[in-house]
Amino acid sequence: MKQQMVGIEIENVHLSFGNTEVLTGVNLKIEPGEFFAFLGPSGSGKSTLLRAIAGFGPRPSGAIKIGGKDIVDLPPWKRNVGMVFQSYALWPHLSVRDNVAFGLRERKMPRNEIGPRVDAALDLVGLSHLADRMPNQLSGGQQQRIALARTVVVEPQVLLLDEPLSNLDANLRVQMRRELLSLQRKLGLTTIFVTHDQEEANTTSDRMAVLDGGVIQQVGSPQVLYDNPQNLFVANFLGTAN
Ligand code: ADP
Ligand code: MG
Repeated sequence: MKQQMVGIEIENVHLSFGNTEVLTGVNLKIEPGEFFAFLGPSGSGKSTLLRAIAGFGPRPSGAIKIGGKDIVDLPPWKRNVGMVFQSYALWPHLSVRDNVAFGLRERKMPRNEIGPRVDAALDLVGLSHLADRMPNQLSGGQQQRIALARTVVVEPQVLLLDEPLSNLDANLRVQMRRELLSLQRKLGLTTIFVTHDQEEANTTSDRMAVLDGGVIQQVGSPQVLYDNPQNLFVANFLGTAN
């Protein structure tokens, strides 16, 4: 299931809801295979930026390139991105297996290829034994693992995660963080992980962008941001101001 790794370039992206400009000129380069976090307070524009990459919401101006190709005018399903949301949104009337197979059937993959692909994806998240369960028979953590399996089974080049762990209790969140990272490394998937939780960003990401007011305040590794916050907002948000 390993894909060719692609980079993401965001160039001068502006985005408005009606008359309100929410992204006000975002520039960012994410390296192939990187685990990248968007960190910032509620309302800072993290989800809006992530959704713009996925192709949901108003069309932004500027360029968003995946593997060097501008995708701003492509529909979501042609962008080679997979997205996981905070609420897992599994189909309640479909078994685990059918939930994971859904995207492959939609793509009209031959039946004899779907089975092995679904098995491999379930194996990846360690839940092969739950293939015949219904979503309401799963714990929150299991549901989120299935949501991940359902996303990676179609072999996207980019994985977009919008606060995927915030509905889980604290212990599970720490465990799932590790699982997520190990899955990302295994697949070599360029990943953007949105969180408002500084520790979550610190412990997972190669680099992160701190957002506030629809603007990227600083980009760097957790260590660099912590040691050298560029402005007062970053210092305060990371708790390094003194
Ligand atoms: P975050 O994910 O960082 O909490 P969002 O990207 O959801 O922030 O929101 C950024 C800003 O855009 C907020 O001020 C929010 O109110 C506004 N916003 C988000 N979605 C919409 C929408 N569909 N219509 C109007 N305003 C929106
Ligand atoms: Mg959000």
